[in-house]
Amino acid sequence: MNAPVVDLRSDTVTQPTPGMRAAMAAAPLGDDVFGDDPSVNALQEKIAGMLGFEAALFVPTGTQSNLCAILSHCQRGDEYIVGQMQHCYRWEAGGGAVFGSVQPQPLEHQPDGSLALADIEAAIKPDDPHFARTRLLALENTLGGKLLPFAYIERATELAQRKGLARHLDGARLFNAAVAQAAQTGGEIRTEARRIAQRFDSVSICFSKGLGAPVGSALCGSRELIARARRIRKMAGGAMRQSGLLAAAASYALDHHVDRLAQDHVLARRLAEGLAGIDQLQIEAPQTNMVFADLVGPARQQSAALLEHLAGQGVLATGLYRLRFATHLDLDAAGVDRAVVAIRQFFAR
Ligand SMILES: *Cc1c(COP(=O)(O)O)cnc(C)c1O
Repeated sequence: MNAPVVDLRSDTVTQPTPGMRAAMAAAPLGDDVFGDDPSVNALQEKIAGMLGFEAALFVPTGTQSNLCAILSHCQRGDEYIVGQMQHCYRWEAGGGAVFGSVQPQPLEHQPDGSLALADIEAAIKPDDPHFARTRLLALENTLGGKLLPFAYIERATELAQRKGLARHLDGARLFNAAVAQAAQTGGEIRTEARRIAQRFDSVSICFSKGLGAPVGSALCGSRELIARARRIRKMAGGAMRQSGLLAAAASYALDHHVDRLAQDHVLARRLAEGLAGIDQLQIEAPQTNMVFADLVGPARQQSAALLEHLAGQGVLATGLYRLRFATHLDLDAAGVDRAVVAIRQFFAR
């Protein structure tokens, strides 16, 4: 029998666990468009309460969650300040501009993933008919597997507030950030998650990444903001019916899969350590569940050959000049070690 595939392409590839499937099967259901699905309502209350918001909205994807946020904060002709590499600018097909006529103002990142305060300040446009109205600052945490320093988040959100901008956090992996931050501060994971979230007017969370649910995200905010977001979700075709089946999986993930994210971070470090010393790879020390390895020198052109070699060994990853390996709950130390062996084998040829 072949060993199972070691899938390091993303933390989205996980299968629901037996416990999660049981929770889904047992979930009481209703029609959520009528507001009648008890499992959806319970999830929305749970995540809003955990992060200290009045309300939350369950949506099919993180992309739709960010879209609902941007269109709830901004009107046609407004703009949002965002980082070049952030999902809600780069990886969402320009949805804010397409569906909302909201113009992005992308900024370059600093090496730690932050946006320089001076750059943010300089990008905020004066009230002048020549300019779009700057309405929103959007940050992301974690970004490319990096924890945004909390002291930075405090300063950036304080600046936004002082300048009258709303503040949105794409916290697809907020709980990974909270785990890493808790390890630094000695604090509790949920307390750290809430501390980060409370610096923002809205926060989007993905259940289908490290938390291991099959589908779904939530947008958290004030009752008023979430009421606006609900209309946009309907417009975007994201108002679902017996979606409690999915919400139950997300709810199970919040109860059972938050603390275990620390194991994913351990596996990421194990992978990075396993790859240390390979001349052709420059490894960035992982902070959460992502390992990035830059191919250097002549190896820079070898990513396709490497990925093909790995696939032949039952190891899946992605990347071009920079390979990405994501750890998650369907992965164990043996899988990581297999990946290390396969990668070393390739460069030893
Ligand atoms: C995955 C991701 C999203 C979007 O989630 P989808 O469910 O794939 O649409 C948004 N932001 C970040 C940071 C993500 O990693």
